[in-house]
Amino acid sequence: MIHVKKAFVIGHPIKHSRSPLIHGSWIAEHGIEGSYEAIDVAPDELPAFVERLRQGEFAGGNVTIPHKEAVFALCDSVDPLATTIGAVNTLVRRSDGQIHGFNTDYMGFLGNLDQNAPGWDQNLEVALVLGAGGAARAILVALQSRSIPIILLNRTRATADRLASELGGDITIGALDEVNEAAPLAGLIINTTSVGMHGSRFEDFDLGELRPDTLVTDIVYVPLVTPLLADARALGLRTVDGLGMLLHQAVPGFEAWFGVRPEVTQALRAKIEATL
Ligand code: NAP
Repeated sequence: MIHVKKAFVIGHPIKHSRSPLIHGSWIAEHGIEGSYEAIDVAPDELPAFVERLRQGEFAGGNVTIPHKEAVFALCDSVDPLATTIGAVNTLVRRSDGQIHGFNTDYMGFLGNLDQNAPGWDQNLEVALVLGAGGAARAILVALQSRSIPIILLNRTRATADRLASELGGDITIGALDEVNEAAPLAGLIINTTSVGMHGSRFEDFDLGELRPDTLVTDIVYVPLVTPLLADARALGLRTVDGLGMLLHQAVPGFEAWFGVRPEVTQALRAKIEATL
């Protein structure tokens, strides 16, 4: 008998998710007898859905908005880094039926830079993180896993303050209007705010003072080249866009459900880019 492994992404709404295209491409590429489908699950349906997973209908799946926090209570175990980040985005059903939750966003961030800017974390004195929302938490954890000191600036300074106290470690905080003083100190600048979406920009950020070896990355990927990245490229600075983070965060889940570690190839990237 052929055992078909099934995986999912649940959210509410879910129809705009690109995850089925990413995982579907890998399933086809590796000739796996399996499926990955987007399923709309309303908040009050979440416990019943997780029970279907526990009963063995699926190998696991991804969890997105609005379930990333609520699903904690339904897991049998949660990875400590997911607890620190405060969100579970990947579930795996173990052979004994126990459900393990973890967070792959920080791995996606690291995988993207490792692939597209190899050596980025060597001799890095400090990284500048703009924004202190949900995505920033995963990125701060990622940077700390590579022992990189951080300057964290946020429009609402109190939010940055709270986040830095929760995480501990070497994080200097400030308000976003201090960006022109902080940026020339940093070898890596990461935008984790939603600025950049729909072509919006940081009006007062003067990139002209940055060191010539600064690497600039944005996690916003619609548009793929945000105004921040366009400005950095115009000055000859190295840049990495945010699409790679989305692709790389999918790798650990796929490996856990289907037993094959997939690759983020140029062809896959082009396929997803065509949908942006
Ligand atoms: P979030 O929790 O809502 O946080 C939004 C952040 O942006 C906050 O720090 C907020 O500052 C700041 N912000 C919003 N509008 C601003 C403005 N006009 N000027 C300055 N700062 C502003 O959102 P999130 O979940 O962290 O997501 C942030 C972005 O990352 C989204 O565009 C999302 O699509 C993208 N993302 C990409 C990936 C990927 O795989 N590439 C993964 C996750 C998220 P305040 O605290 O002052 O409000």
